[in-house]
Formats: sequence, C-alpha cells, structure tokens
Amino acid sequence: MNDSRLSARVRALKPSETLALGARARELRAKGISVISFSAGEPDFDTPEDIREAGVQAIRAGHTRYTAVGGVPELRAAIVEKLKRENGIEYKPSEVVVSNGAKHAIWNAFLTLLEPGDEVLCPTPYWVSFPEMVRLVGGEPVYVAPKPGGYKIGPEELERALTPRSKLLVLNSPNNPSGAVYNRAELSALAEVIRRRKLYVLSDEIYEHLVYGDARHISIASLDPDLRERTILIGGVSKTWAMTGWRIGFAAAPADIAEGMERLQGQTTSNAAAVSQQAALRAFTGGLDSVLRMRETFANRRDRIVSRLSKIPGVRLVPPEGAFYAFPDLGERIRRARNGVHDSTSLCDFLIDEARIVCVPGSAFGMEGHLRLSFAISDHDIEEGMDRLEAALDRM
Ligand code: PMP
Repeated sequence: MNDSRLSARVRALKPSETLALGARARELRAKGISVISFSAGEPDFDTPEDIREAGVQAIRAGHTRYTAVGGVPELRAAIVEKLKRENGIEYKPSEVVVSNGAKHAIWNAFLTLLEPGDEVLCPTPYWVSFPEMVRLVGGEPVYVAPKPGGYKIGPEELERALTPRSKLLVLNSPNNPSGAVYNRAELSALAEVIRRRKLYVLSDEIYEHLVYGDARHISIASLDPDLRERTILIGGVSKTWAMTGWRIGFAAAPADIAEGMERLQGQTTSNAAAVSQQAALRAFTGGLDSVLRMRETFANRRDRIVSRLSKIPGVRLVPPEGAFYAFPDLGERIRRARNGVHDSTSLCDFLIDEARIVCVPGSAFGMEGHLRLSFAISDHDIEEGMDRLEAALDRM
C-alpha cells in the first residue's frame, strides 16, 4: 500500500531538472552570489515590438472571449500560408490546430494517436518532456542511440529499435539539446523505413528558424505525400519570435488526426488565449526581419561558445547547427576526476558549488557524460562562464 494522495501516473513523473536548476541559480543570486546560468530554455530577447503592440491592440479591440477551439480562422489561414511558403507543404485550415504552446500540441498528438502499450521511438538525446508525456498516456518510450560520432540516427539505428508494437517516431530537428539538424538526404533515408514500417512521425520543428552556417531546416512532411499523411508537424512562435510566455503553438496533421486533436482540445482546455492568438497572427504575417536579427545574434554567440569549448582539453564537441544549445561530451574529464565527480549530475553540482555556473546534466536528456549549455545569454556571460568552467575543470 502506498499512502500518497497522488495518482500512480503523476507519482511516476520526473520533476523537471531544468526548472530545479533554475531555482537553485535564483537562490544563490538572492544571497548576492554572482551566478552564470547556462540553463535557459528560452531566448533572452523581448518579443518584437510590433507583435507586442498587436497584443495590446487585441485587448483594446475586445479579443477577450472564447474563440474557435482550434484557433481563429485568420490565424489558421496564416499558418497554412506559412507552411506553404516556408516549408513547401499544403494543408487546409481544418488540418491546423492552434494550442497552448508547442508542448500542448505535442501532448494532444500523443493522446490522440497512442494506445496503451504502443512504442514510441525517442532518439537520444531527447527533449525531456517526450518520454514523460508518452508514459503519461500509457505508451512506452523506446530510446534510439545515435550513430557514433554525432547526434543523429540513421535508418539502421531506427530499424534495429523497431518491434511489432512500434507506432510513432519522434523527430526533433533542430534538436534540443544537441543542436543537430537533419538534412534532406538523412530525412529521406529515415523516410524509407518510416514508409515501409508504416510508422507515424511527430516532427517537432519549434526551432526551425534557428539554424546556422550552411544548415537548412527541412520538414520531413515535405518529402512526399505519403510522409505528409504520416506526420504530425509541430511548430509555434515561442523560440522563433521570443514568445515563450504567450503560449501559442500548433500542430498540422492529416484531416482525421487534426479533427481528433481538436475534439480532444474541445473537451479539455478549449482555445489558446485569444489575445495571444492575435499576437501570433502578427508574427506569422509580419515578415522575418526581427527573426533574422535574433538569429544573427545567436549565430555569433554560437561561434563564441563553440570556439571556447573546442579549446578545452578532454572536451568533445559536435558544433550545434541549430537551436541555442551546445552539448559537449565531458566523459573523459569525468573519468579523470579525482574529487568524487562521477557523472553529469555530480559534475553539475560541482560546477554550481565551485564555479557558480549552472548547466543541465546530459542524463536529463538520456545521454550521460554530457552537459547542455544554453547560449541564449550575453557574450559577456558566455566568456565569463567559459573562464569559470575551464578553471573548475582544472580543479576537478
Ligand atoms: N519542443 C522542444 C524541443 C522544446 O525545446 C520546447 C521548449 N523548451 C518545446 C517543444 C515547447 O515549446 P512551447 O513553449 O511552445 O510549448
């Protein structure tokens, strides 16, 4: 017997490691201690002025009531336009469902598609919430390790992980936490297995505009009509327009799946906030100038952190091609440690205590030995944080 008042499902949920680390950084700062936090999961910019103004105008214009469950028609139409223009995929407005952030869209998708016992392929490293959500709906996450030397899976890795119960592949490109971006050839190779084994794909493209150098974002749903029929494409405004607090994301999916997600949302949360929908409408229709400016800043910070991390002996880094995280492998330094550090979690504790820098352990993303360092912080903090990291590793 257990005497907890919580359901077994909720008892089984992992607490969010990123949130706990953020809280620890705030505690130290409250004591007047200088802390550099590499734990941010959101852009450090403000939402662009024109989008904020659209939100203000929306309140004044009386966008204060329930809307259609899946989003106001103008917003759905704007997302349809965006998917055609930027991603080369045709959807009808009824195939787009606007939700309370991309996270909510992902949750709707899992609940709509999965039966208890269905296996969901989660390539490692994975965004922390994928396996937790899969388990909440009674599915089973199956982890797929990447090809050696990088953070992407190929058809062989995918094929090896399949069983008769495999239902859905979670693809997140650009990836949180590794910054890996799948190119067209890599997506086509996976698509061959997906078609043959009749899998569904949840394609989380929330970081689509944050790609650097020669990397280009390609949606797997754009490859051919069959892939479009098997894909639930997830997008949103949170990362692209620095709008994490507005809570607007969307799913684009074949009609029957979108209809199921909308029905589910109709009986649970109803529409996403009406004011936020108007701000998101401005984001999707107002051009990409502000996005390109933010991307340029991220690209410079990425170069800075890559250059610093690559110079630290015993640290292996595959430079991120997208998102705003570096994901160095410190396995060798951990193995050589003489101070009790023995995994990524104890390394993070050591770095907070000794160097006053906050990183997220790779174990949170299913990949030991690594750290996730967000570069959604200033150049000054990147430099100062890297100085502290180097010095602390030498004392380890
Ligand atoms: N997917 C990934 C890969 C993410 O990193 C995040 C945000 N941390 C989300 C989805 C959630 O986005 P939103 O804030 O729009 O719910």
